[in-house]
Amino acid sequence: MLRELLSRWPVVRQIKTGGNGTGPEAMSQRTRTLKPKIEGAKVARSVCPYCGVGCGQLVFHKNNKLVSIEGDPESPISRGRLCPKGSDTFQLHTHPARLTKVKYRAPYSRSWQEIPLEQAMDMIADRVWDTREHTFIEKDDGASVMHTLGIAHLGGATLDVEENYLIRKLFTGGLGMNCISNQARI
Ligand code: SF4
Repeated sequence: MLRELLSRWPVVRQIKTGGNGTGPEAMSQRTRTLKPKIEGAKVARSVCPYCGVGCGQLVFHKNNKLVSIEGDPESPISRGRLCPKGSDTFQLHTHPARLTKVKYRAPYSRSWQEIPLEQAMDMIADRVWDTREHTFIEKDDGASVMHTLGIAHLGGATLDVEENYLIRKLFTGGLGMNCISNQARI
């Protein structure tokens, strides 16, 4: 009993193993059994959504859930580093205080009302489609243009590479929009 208690004492382990107190001899049982949170997770490569520097990120996921987002050591831009903003990308997606409702002020109304995100998305889709229907131009000076100048899109800094790809594909090829830009477009 006493022997076992003593063997758990790091100083005793240090004396017995001849270690300098910075290796396994200084670890508690709990520390020895700790596992990294990304153990067993799959990883996908992405780019930090926040700014045009474009630091590389590794997105770890397990059972269709995000586990962690960390700097990508193989990125030639950032070599594993993320600034404080890029480091909180995981919280951007998972924080419980993330807003899930939308504030809406109806035309001529003086007050805001809260509506579900789904409803807001449907309203935006209806308006986009209506505007396209009313502004789509097939020919300009006899030349085929097949576009609309009635809608523009300005992306936010938190759009990632995959979202920007889909936006570009849908809005240009799909809807015929010309005016598309994004804060992190480098
Ligand atoms: S916000 Fe920070 S981590 Fe993200 S791309 Fe810009 S510099 Fe890199």
